[in-house]
Amino acid sequence: MASSQHTTPESFPDDLTGLDDEIVHPIQPYQAKKTYMCPGCASTIAPGIGHLVIVPQDAPDLRRHWHRGCWYKERRRLGYHR
Ligand SMILES: [Zn+2]
Repeated sequence: MASSQHTTPESFPDDLTGLDDEIVHPIQPYQAKKTYMCPGCASTIAPGIGHLVIVPQDAPDLRRHWHRGCWYKERRRLGYHR
């Protein structure tokens, strides 16, 4: 079976800026060298997966790694439309 991996993971807006008091750092696939836990879906982000780092401005130590899609949904859940 010849199934070509031709998925487009970038199906979310690139402008995933944070909420007012959070800074969002995009992590490119080549920068993701560890496994992280995504608080949005409670599963892991494997190495090599592009994702986002959310850093609270007043608590930089509490930064979290999110899947792009999970952060997108979380923002919508919080009523953040722009
Ligand atoms: Zn997730």
